[in-house]
Amino acid sequence: MATKNKNPFSMPPTWMTFLWILVIWLIISILFQSYQPPAPQELAYTDFKKAVNHKKVDKVTIKGHAISGEFREKAVKSRDSGKKGSRLYSRSDFKTRIPAIGDPELLQLLEKNGVSVSVESDEPAWFVTILVNLLPWILIIGLFFYFSRRMQERMSSGGGPFGVGKSKAKIYKKTESDLRLDDVAGLANAKKEVQEIIDYLKDPAKFHELGGKLPRGVLLAGPPGTGKTLLARATAGEANVPFFSISGSEFIEMFVGVGASRVRNMFDDAKKETPSIIFIDEIDAIGRVRGTGLGGGHDEREQTLNQILSEMDGFSGREAVVVMAATNRSDVLDPALTRPGRFDRQIILELPHKNARKQILEIHTRNMPLAEDVNLEIVARRTVGFAGADLENLANESALFAARNNRKKIIAEDFDESLDKITLGLVRDELINEEDRKIVAYHEVGHAMMAKLLPGTDPLEKVTIIPHGQALGATQQIPEEDRYNLSRQYLQSRIGVMLGGRVAEKIFFGDITSGAANDLKQATELARRMVCQFGMSDRLGPVNFPQGDRHPFLGQELTEPKNYSERTAYLIDKEVYRIITEMEDKVVQLISDKQEEIKIVVSELLEKETLSNKEIDAIIAEQDSSVNSEKQEQQ
Ligand code: ADP
Ligand code: ZN
Repeated sequence: MATKNKNPFSMPPTWMTFLWILVIWLIISILFQSYQPPAPQELAYTDFKKAVNHKKVDKVTIKGHAISGEFREKAVKSRDSGKKGSRLYSRSDFKTRIPAIGDPELLQLLEKNGVSVSVESDEPAWFVTILVNLLPWILIIGLFFYFSRRMQERMSSGGGPFGVGKSKAKIYKKTESDLRLDDVAGLANAKKEVQEIIDYLKDPAKFHELGGKLPRGVLLAGPPGTGKTLLARATAGEANVPFFSISGSEFIEMFVGVGASRVRNMFDDAKKETPSIIFIDEIDAIGRVRGTGLGGGHDEREQTLNQILSEMDGFSGREAVVVMAATNRSDVLDPALTRPGRFDRQIILELPHKNARKQILEIHTRNMPLAEDVNLEIVARRTVGFAGADLENLANESALFAARNNRKKIIAEDFDESLDKITLGLVRDELINEEDRKIVAYHEVGHAMMAKLLPGTDPLEKVTIIPHGQALGATQQIPEEDRYNLSRQYLQSRIGVMLGGRVAEKIFFGDITSGAANDLKQATELARRMVCQFGMSDRLGPVNFPQGDRHPFLGQELTEPKNYSERTAYLIDKEVYRIITEMEDKVVQLISDKQEEIKIVVSELLEKETLSNKEIDAIIAEQDSSVNSEKQEQQ
């Protein structure tokens, strides 16, 4: 990533004032020092009294306990007279201090010896007083501002004790959105739904006159990164209304009771500026089914949620405030949230299909110089399952790759590289010994051959033994089309592909490694879903056996009773086992039959480290023709 050039002068303003105060203070104190007259002679108090008694003192000034004064002229030593005996002083002025216990006879003594006495107030000059008194405060206040600013900065990215009473502005943000619906690609249905809201916000009076009631709450539901926030902001931008946003998880980070008051503040502010939009991100963080008692801290959540609900109930119907909330777990939301009059309208955002992916890529490469060989259609085809945010990230990564290679334009290879980085993880520079490399190669080719040989699989894209992320190697398949429905055969073949790696290790090395653990986990999960969710086991039939969710920490499913018998549970396990072992037998058969091909592909892979599907086809074709010609020679 490009390193940011930090300008040392672009410090926060309070920090700057603080520095300025320091500098000014330094200058003043230096000036003071340099204007000090040369120090007078210091006398012991007894010496001073002696000098007075000897009539050597001309005048004194008394200032508190300090006495300064001047000697008579004859008492001062001149350069040429060196009279001995009488005491001579080197300077005409002197100073001394009256003892703390005081000396009541001093004044009398001075008068008696004809010393002229003047008294000065011992208070320092007014500006010195002010400076001395204020300086520590200025310093403290400066420091306080500096630190509270830093706390606030931290607050805006998370919770912290100092933000609670103060910076409500930091908890929710008000922005004017300059996004338009044109900035949102795909999502045709969702856009149609928000169009109505936009029309309403543009001219609420028109709707009110006709007595129409518009939904106050809109729930945007969809996987992360599919553009929920984007759509809400585009709605605000299109209708040209202020956009108040807050994230559900931010409520939870705060102290009890504060979440609710923040909700009140935000709704009050939004009502003051109607028409407006309130956007609550991650509403499932506060709005998930109540009363399970799991996850902890639900008191705070409940209060916050109740506040949101009562604010929404409290709309008189005249305020043109639309509350939009986003969630990727609409299934766990409290039913109270989705009741009529609350978030009663749901807009579902799905992962983008191929055309939408292409459009999203087009939007995010608008300002990037693309070389001619970049075909966004192909990139879109290869990014099945990517959300809008992933595609944006892909475009950005590609630009970074191009920049790193000092290219003026982004070429197709940059997209390939960043796609690998995103799907497989970063390339790891790792020294792997020959034996391990060989095992990994057989393992991956095992996967790859299954992808080629089993019916109905996603086409093979490539195989690599370059370590990426956590994995030592990878086999990549890319579907021709986005799949909407998964057939039993497709799923079985997928399990077969997952098992291919382990089976290859077993056949070629007679042993298996731990590297297949993840494959087995995925295969088992998939088989279980085939049995329990898709009704794909003939023995158990078309029945759904709830398995609990993959997010038990959210609290709902964990408490859901397992409503099937132990006997059924036993049967499920047996069926899962059967599906996997049957597939394994098939895979063993296929790999044993193709041992020669696999060996030759592996030796190529060890050399080149990455093979595309085409290259593998070419290697196998060559092998077949040479085997055929050998056979002919033997005949
Ligand atoms: P969500 O709120 O659903 O998690 P966001 O709205 O924050 O996702 O999306 C993150 C980013 O991904 C957006 O800022 C946008 O740049 C990009 N993005 C997502 N979906 C789309 C889309 N349909 N069209 C264009 N950009 C998108
Ligand atoms: Zn594997």
